[in-house]
Amino acid sequence: MDADHLSQRLATVASYVPQGARLADIGTDHAYLPVNLAKRGIITSGVAGEVVPGPFKNAAHEIKKENLDERIIARLANGLQAIEPTDKIDTVAIAGMGGSLITQILTQDFDRLTGVQRLILQPNVGEANVRQFLMTHGFQLVTEEIVSEDGHDYEILVADRQANPTQYGQEDLHFGPYLLAAHSAIFIAKWQRELARTEAVLQQVATANEVPVAKVAELQAKISEIKEVLQRVGA
Ligand code: SAM
Repeated sequence: MDADHLSQRLATVASYVPQGARLADIGTDHAYLPVNLAKRGIITSGVAGEVVPGPFKNAAHEIKKENLDERIIARLANGLQAIEPTDKIDTVAIAGMGGSLITQILTQDFDRLTGVQRLILQPNVGEANVRQFLMTHGFQLVTEEIVSEDGHDYEILVADRQANPTQYGQEDLHFGPYLLAAHSAIFIAKWQRELARTEAVLQQVATANEVPVAKVAELQAKISEIKEVLQRVGA
């Protein structure tokens, strides 16, 4: 992968950045996302935020190599602290981290999101945390995608600022309202694998000398929920 050839996962994130956006890519690593979007004339300006010095240097190098210093600025900063009010950022992307870390980053400096209209988030795991964050912080999910790449499934959640976002129940938070409605082959395969994995864990836990009752109940509830959803979508 490089800035001219994004992975399908990052290309999907890129596809939801509006034309003319002022983008902050938090946890940018090589800055492939903002560089790709600037080269294609999609973003007006960008901030490439990185907390680790090595990747930050990679990002700065990539931006310089492409002569994009005037349009993209690399900042060594923790999470949203990479965003300054003068950047007038309206779109934030955070991709390739766990859902808990994404949620932590967004919560920690929430005031830095003033002026941000769109969030494009790609948690590697813990997607329900991210949906919960969005609906409790004035962001409405507008679409979701699931892509499969190198043996992993990745969910991409797109949300726009809205005063009264839909309050989703547990099922929508776990499975994703748009992903559930679309129930693509990738979605079904993901949850069939998750069902098999959870059943295997339950079997192991249930044969322990001291059976952890609460854990067993939790796993059983999860299995029922997945089975019910898979049955409903005809899988
Ligand atoms: N966003 C790129 C992508 O999706 O391909 C890179 C993903 S990489 C797996 C995660 C990056 O996030 C790493 O470079 C890591 O250093 C950075 N990161 C982790 N926590 C961060 C934080 N609190 N603030 C900024 N960057 C962070």
